[in-house]
Amino acid sequence: PPAVTAVEVSKVYGGGDAAVHALRGVSVAFARGAFTAIMGPSGSGKSTLMHCLAGLDTVSGGRVMLGDTQLTGLKDRQLTMLRRDRIGFIFQAFNLLPTLTAEQNIRLPLELAGRKADQAWFDRVVDVVGLRDRLGHRPNQLSGGQQQRVACARALVARPEVIFADEPTGNLDSRAGAEVLGFLRASVREMGQTIVMVTHDPVAASYADRVVFLRDGQIVSELLQPTPDTVL
Ligand code: ADP
Ligand code: ADP
Repeated sequence: PPAVTAVEVSKVYGGGDAAVHALRGVSVAFARGAFTAIMGPSGSGKSTLMHCLAGLDTVSGGRVMLGDTQLTGLKDRQLTMLRRDRIGFIFQAFNLLPTLTAEQNIRLPLELAGRKADQAWFDRVVDVVGLRDRLGHRPNQLSGGQQQRVACARALVARPEVIFADEPTGNLDSRAGAEVLGFLRASVREMGQTIVMVTHDPVAASYADRVVFLRDGQIVSELLQPTPDTVL
């Protein structure tokens, strides 16, 4: 099966006259080893869709599958374990722990899951993101781009089935953003990682293999092999 599948997913916030239909019957599949961008205007439902796909939020209708596992209907505790064991996250705010070194931050999710990092894999991830000589630094000793690379490495090192990235370059200048996007693409090409990225930036989206466009809570179009020009 695909890494992630949404079938006729709807999401309604609130009720009555105040109800907001954030998603209106979204069906989409994310293939293993693919890098997909979700684009659309502000308020079109990008964050809501990502939260529903990642089991951070419940759907109002339809269902979400992670591989063969149906998320819809799982209890909070099961969802928490599933996110911890099978999903990686990269956020706009890097969400690094300030008192830990880069290496400790990168290893943290594995340790929380009670797993040991395979040293060869750890080394490979660190090299792909280019952090070899920064492992002993704390976040406040790193640039924004380097901090986001630590966050990428932290997501990659556990080899999750899918990584969800929410505006991962939103706080970075264009050069640092390009570096981070290059590492994300390299992790897809060289490591077979599956990535789903929410962005409103056409340049960021052009690093993906495929772009899915949302508008008013529905998928309105798709584009393969995007370029900054064709995304606009
Ligand atoms: P995007 O990420 O594309 O900007 P969102 O998914 O954040 O869009 O929002 C989609 C719609 O749902 C918007 O109208 C937004 O105001 C609304 N919305 C999002 N989250 C909530 C919430 N927790 N409660 C009420 N409305 C929400
Ligand atoms: P973004 O558009 O970058 O996702 P937002 O500032 O729109 O960020 O949303 C931040 C958080 O606030 C999200 O978790 C979203 O669910 C929530 N949110 C967004 N719109 C609303 C809303 N109208 N009412 C309540 N919560 C909202």
